[in-house]
Amino acid sequence: MSNKFVPSFDLLLKNGRVIDPANDIDDDLDVGISGTIIGAVEKNIDPSRSKKTIDASGLIVSPGLIDLHAHFWGYEWSVMPDELCLSTGVTTAVDAGGAGHLTFDDFNNKIISKSKVRIFAFLNISGLGMTGEPEQDLEGMSIESSLAKVRQRPDLIIGLKVAHYLGPDWEPLDRAVEVARNSKTFVMVDQNPISSRPMDKMMLEHMESGDVVTHCYGSGKNMIDFSDKVHQYFFEARNRGIKFDVGHGAGSFSWRVAQSAIDQGFLPDTISTDLHSSSYLKNQATMPETMSKLLVCGISIQDVFKMSTIEPAKQIGHPELGSLTVSGVADVAVFKLSQGDFGFTDNGLSGSRVRKGAFRLDPEITIKSGEVFWDRNGRTKSDWLQTAPIDTPNI
Ligand SMILES: [Zn+2]
Repeated sequence: MSNKFVPSFDLLLKNGRVIDPANDIDDDLDVGISGTIIGAVEKNIDPSRSKKTIDASGLIVSPGLIDLHAHFWGYEWSVMPDELCLSTGVTTAVDAGGAGHLTFDDFNNKIISKSKVRIFAFLNISGLGMTGEPEQDLEGMSIESSLAKVRQRPDLIIGLKVAHYLGPDWEPLDRAVEVARNSKTFVMVDQNPISSRPMDKMMLEHMESGDVVTHCYGSGKNMIDFSDKVHQYFFEARNRGIKFDVGHGAGSFSWRVAQSAIDQGFLPDTISTDLHSSSYLKNQATMPETMSKLLVCGISIQDVFKMSTIEPAKQIGHPELGSLTVSGVADVAVFKLSQGDFGFTDNGLSGSRVRKGAFRLDPEITIKSGEVFWDRNGRTKSDWLQTAPIDTPNI
């Protein structure tokens, strides 16, 4: 009979501040990871039970972040997913309409299936996706073909996207809503209002409960009036179940709109980046940076993590991805809440300006399905002095 001790965990994150809003947890706890799943979230787990232990004291340990709005395909500013997601605590990201029913398979073959970060997609109602004129071409917006593609890939396509249409009517939105209702998914909408398509009619008459308005604090979406008051119809839309997503982007986050709205109690349902090369270069619009901005606006850290984990997880129909529930998938992010004199920039019609903040979330470790993909300070590594003598060939 063997007495060989087999550790319970492959990796133990010890003494971190665990913020897991799905389970109503904000406490100093240890997190044990076994293979690809969460093995335990408890106090005082003995390090001898784990093959490897990390001291996470002073750090925040959360579920892997979920970015509801990013661009990896079909947009001229698209980025490759892994580098900017896994380096910033994001383990699941959603491409916001880069592909339509004609181009989705190519997107999947070339990007989704080859990426380490978990990717879902909004299917653009435009058959060719985003770039150039397809979003203006009603002929290319087929209800039948889009519905067929959503039904073919329910494992990857979580909703429909309508954006940038410049015509006078509601046709693309109405078609996307019809596909969404018939596939039990939802629509994400990015439409600036014009006189024939006002925002109140869009949210109150053409969108339905569960549909999402993205870029909610963008100055182009006129959430506030000239006296900085939130239009009443935004509250009415929220009351009828419309969801509001940040979608930071390179032109869709205004400090003035965001702060005014938050002061009046209009908080976002989900935090997302609208990640693309321009939003990254112009505003460093990653998830931790966007979350830091909402901390500056006065939203509690528990709510900021809720809006970046379990809320987007529920929105895409995968609540299992937004928590640290024992036996769930081991998607974990570790952050340092740095203190200092930081500058955070905004964009859009209200200008490109800076606001000072005293805190910034810095991504330290990203673990996806139990595998460490990002380790900013080598916390999962052994000390270099343990390097064995190097046996070089005698040449
Ligand atoms: Zn976008």
